[in-house]
Amino acid sequence: MPSVTIPVPDIGEFEDVEVIEVLVEVGQRVAREDSLVTLESDKASVEIPSPHAGVVEAVSVSLGDLVSEGAALVILEVDAAELETAAPAPTLAPQQRAPAANGAPDTATTAASAPAAAQRSGGERHAEVVVLGAGPGGYTAAFRAADLGKRVVLVERYPTLGGVCLNVGCIPSKALLHIAGVMDEVDALREQGVDYGAPSIDLGRIRSHKDGVVGTLTGGLAKLAKQRGVEVLRATGRFETPNTMELERPDGVERLRFDTAIIAAGSRNVELPGIPHDDPRVMDSTSALELQEIPGRLLVVGGGIIGLEMATVYHALGARVSVVELLDDLMTGVDPDLLRPLKRRLTRRYEAIYTGTKVTDMKAETEGIRVSFEGEGAPAEDRFDAVLVAVGRTPNGDRIQAERAGVVCDERGFIPVDARRRTNVPHIYAIGDITGGPLLAHKATHEGKTAAEAIAGLPAAFDPKAIPSVAYTDPEVAWMGESEAEAKAAGREVDVAKFPWAASGRALGVGRAEGLTKLVFERESGRLLGAGI
Ligand code: FAD
Repeated sequence: MPSVTIPVPDIGEFEDVEVIEVLVEVGQRVAREDSLVTLESDKASVEIPSPHAGVVEAVSVSLGDLVSEGAALVILEVDAAELETAAPAPTLAPQQRAPAANGAPDTATTAASAPAAAQRSGGERHAEVVVLGAGPGGYTAAFRAADLGKRVVLVERYPTLGGVCLNVGCIPSKALLHIAGVMDEVDALREQGVDYGAPSIDLGRIRSHKDGVVGTLTGGLAKLAKQRGVEVLRATGRFETPNTMELERPDGVERLRFDTAIIAAGSRNVELPGIPHDDPRVMDSTSALELQEIPGRLLVVGGGIIGLEMATVYHALGARVSVVELLDDLMTGVDPDLLRPLKRRLTRRYEAIYTGTKVTDMKAETEGIRVSFEGEGAPAEDRFDAVLVAVGRTPNGDRIQAERAGVVCDERGFIPVDARRRTNVPHIYAIGDITGGPLLAHKATHEGKTAAEAIAGLPAAFDPKAIPSVAYTDPEVAWMGESEAEAKAAGREVDVAKFPWAASGRALGVGRAEGLTKLVFERESGRLLGAGI
């Protein structure tokens, strides 16, 4: 029987990755796809599967070794029948790959398994699977479909992949929130006896740091697409028929014929009527992330996660912040006791928080933006140096001519789907923000995998019991499953367990004893329904 050396496959950008587990020993029989070793970089851990069935003849690595692509891992005495059936190159089981960042791509890949790109016939492009939109949902779906052997075209209107999350959402906001968090901690140290003095802020360098993080991740995606043979087309795509899409490209229009499609066109910021959105002092989350300047007085319209995260950044960098929210509370849906520590801190730090208050008018004047309010406790009007409007996101379902493919959108532009993420048209799927809430990157990613696997005929379904949400405010608030209020509103008898962080030595040590951990149980069964911290 022939011996074959199994090397480290293409694992993306990484070099000198540590062997953290050796999962086989000499003499052991392994099946194709059985894991041989686990490698771990600072970004991901990856199990390397065996491309063949056989018996381990030698193990060439030990725990702690640093290895790069091509290094020998295992020598395998391969079953003769195996070689006759032309085993595929190793494929890394996606569930074994850790994401590189929130919403960021799997960093491990196998170049060798990349299928051929989309084919042209008679001047017309053809894809087995076209994915419309390259956000966390779209790129994940495209990569998974390609890994499963499909010829995939990924259509994206912008020059970089990654969608809202990587370009103007999760990633840049978290890069800035990290800076804000460290600044706050340094500030808090003063009371504990360490004073670094006032910070000197170089906005240009902060911007380049943030842009560098975004560039690294989006550039990495382009490479991963290439390695997998996913053809990326820069174009605005719209359906023409149930099997064709019109692609408006920088250099003209062309038609793409497809067997199946995955709509991953995401969402955009909601614009309110009567607001001078064309004035640069009136920002949305996208322009706020550009960090052009720090206004003296900033009004944040919208007390949801995005508004409060951006408020955290601008406050740390020196803005005096006010928040106005139409509903009766900030971050609606979160239990009041979980929200309380955040509200208490924000009330101390911000100039004002107006809840249950409507913005009735906004005028751009030379000296600032004049805003009129209607609500108890709010002034009739006030003037701010800048306003950030973060009142939610709306799906892009109205911008892709879905009706020409027969795909139904609801009145808000969301596309209803089944558990396999299939729309009402059986060969057209939809994933991510465009299918409805929660509008979160990890939900989009998971749906992307589900849709790709469903298309490949695997028994996949999107059936989450709970999707975690995190507000990266200060303090952070995180929750999953049912809140206590939701459970009670659904008529359930619940028990609640709370652990106050004032009793945690760690929390006291870092000077943040205000938090709590909360679990919500179904009384009769003791089943965990939800949790928050
Ligand atoms: P999107 O990321 O919206 O991507 C859709 C893509 O489709 C875009 O690239 C778009 O250009 C493209 N597209 C649209 N129409 C067309 C067309 N006709 N032709 C070609 N291309 C098209 N989520 C989290 O989980 N954690 C966070 O910390 C977090 N922070 C956020 C912070 C901010 C400021 C914002 C705005 C959002 C944040 N989110 C966060 C939400 C997260 O960004 C979204 O849930 C996620 O990006 C949705 O992914 P998606 O693939 O559905 O769509």
